[in-house]
Amino acid sequence: MLTYFPTLYEDELLYSWFARYHVHSANVSPKQTMKDLFETTSAVAVPDLPTQLKEVYGRIMHFDIMSLDSLILKHTLFRYYTAFQPESVRQNVYQAMVTENRPGAIHMMIGIAASVVKEWKFLRFCPTCFKEDIQNKGEPYWHVSHQFPGVFTCSKHGDYLCDSTVKFRNPEKHEFVAATKDNCPSIFLQSSYSDTTKAFLNMIVRQSQELVSSDFLFTFQGIQKAYQYLLKERGLSNINGKVDQKKLAEQFQLFYGKELLSAVQSSVSYENPYCWLKNITRKHRKSFHPLRHILFIHFLSESVETFYKYASKEYYPFGEAPYYCLNPAADHFKERVITDMRISLCTDTRRPVATFGCSCGFTYSRRGPDKVEEDNFKIGRIKQFGHVWESTLYKLVHVEKKSWYLAAKELQCDIGTVKKYATRLSPNKEANSEDSLIDVTTAKQKEWLDLIRIHPEKSVTQLRKIAPALYAWHYRHNIKWLKVHSPKYK
Ligand SMILES: [Zn+2]
Ligand SMILES: [Zn+2]
Repeated sequence: MLTYFPTLYEDELLYSWFARYHVHSANVSPKQTMKDLFETTSAVAVPDLPTQLKEVYGRIMHFDIMSLDSLILKHTLFRYYTAFQPESVRQNVYQAMVTENRPGAIHMMIGIAASVVKEWKFLRFCPTCFKEDIQNKGEPYWHVSHQFPGVFTCSKHGDYLCDSTVKFRNPEKHEFVAATKDNCPSIFLQSSYSDTTKAFLNMIVRQSQELVSSDFLFTFQGIQKAYQYLLKERGLSNINGKVDQKKLAEQFQLFYGKELLSAVQSSVSYENPYCWLKNITRKHRKSFHPLRHILFIHFLSESVETFYKYASKEYYPFGEAPYYCLNPAADHFKERVITDMRISLCTDTRRPVATFGCSCGFTYSRRGPDKVEEDNFKIGRIKQFGHVWESTLYKLVHVEKKSWYLAAKELQCDIGTVKKYATRLSPNKEANSEDSLIDVTTAKQKEWLDLIRIHPEKSVTQLRKIAPALYAWHYRHNIKWLKVHSPKYK
C-alpha cells in the first residue's frame, strides 16, 4: 500500500499520472516506481492502452480516487479505439487492460499494430496548455486529447500540437516519463494548413474527444445499416444499396481536399480496388480506424453522436405509407389514403420511381427521392385515371353538358385528355372505333383486378360499394368476364 499518490488531473493519461508519481516519489530508479505500482519490474509503461490496472488500483484505491472503470474510460484511449469495435473485442480489451501484462496483444486485438493510419511517434503537447498547467497546477502533464492519431490541434486552444522528445513507444519499456520543460521544447515547427483544412482538423479533434466522453456501443451491423441509410439518402447509392463508388470517391475528395486527406493518411482513389472508402461502404468484416469513421460520418453530414440513429431506420425515398391520392375527382383528393406503392429504378438515372395505386382507380408515378414536403403532391405520369375520375368526366361532359374547358379545369388536366376520354366514354358507342373499345375493356379489367388485389378480403358486394361505376360498367358490358373474375363467396 502506498502512502502518497498525486491527484489525477482532468484529461490526464494514466501514463502521465504514474509518471508524475515517479517524479514526486523521488524514486531514483524507474524500476522502484514499477515495483511500487505493479509489484513487479516487468510491467510495461503504455500511454494509450495500459495494462495490469487492477494491480495498480489495489495499491492506490484508498486515496479516494474514482473507480477503476472511470479511470479506464476517461484517462486512456480505450473508448477511442473500441467505439467502433464489436462488443466482444471491447470486453476482451477491457479485461486485458485490467488484468493482463500483454500490451502488444491488445494492440493486435484492435488492429493498431497493422493500421495504415500511423500513430504519433512522440507524445504530444499543446504549448498553451503546457503553460497553463504549470500556472494552475504547478506542473505540466500529458493530456489524453492530445494523443489521438490524426489530431493536429488542441481542442481547448485550437493551437497546433507539438511533438515532445518522449517516444510514444519508448524503447525503455519499463519507464514512465513525465512531461517537463526539457522534453517539451518551446521551439517548434509550425504546421501551415489552409483554413479549410484547419477547420476539418478541428472537427476531427472534437469528434475524437466525443468518442472518449461517452459509451457508444455501436455494432458492426448497426454501423453498416446506418451507412447504407445515409448513402441512399444522399443519393450515393440506389435503393437496392448499390453504391456509386466513382461518385462517392469524387465527392469525398472534393469535400475534404487532398491536403487534409493526405495529412490524416486517408487519401482515396476510385481506381484502387482496395481503397478504404470503398471498403467502409461494404459489409463490415473487419474494423476501420476510428479516424476514418469520423471522416466518413462527417462527410455524410452526421456526427458520432447522431449517425447511429439510422442503424434501425429503413430508408423510404417517398416517406412512409399511406400516400396522397392526387385524383381531383375523388372525395379523398389530397388525402393520405394510398397504401399500394411499388418502387422501381429509373433505367437512365438509377433513381427510384414510385407507382401509387389508389382504390379509386387513379394510378400515378413519380421519380424520387422526395426531398421536400411539396414533392408529395407531384405527379410524374398518370398511368390510369380510374373509374371515379372517368365517372366524373362522364357526368360533367355527357350529363351536365359542360364544356371541355370547364371539365378540364375541374379535373385539373389538359383539354386534350378530356377530349380523348370524353369520346372514348361517349354513350353513343357506335362513335367509338373497335380499337378504343378494346382499350377501354382492357383498362377496366385491369382496374377491377387491381381493386381485388388491393382489397383481397372484400366480397363482390363490398367491392361494388367501393367502385359502383366500375362495377356497373362491367355488369353492363362485360358480365361474363366479371363473373369469372370476382371473389368467391366464403
Ligand atoms: Zn491547449
Ligand atoms: Zn384515390
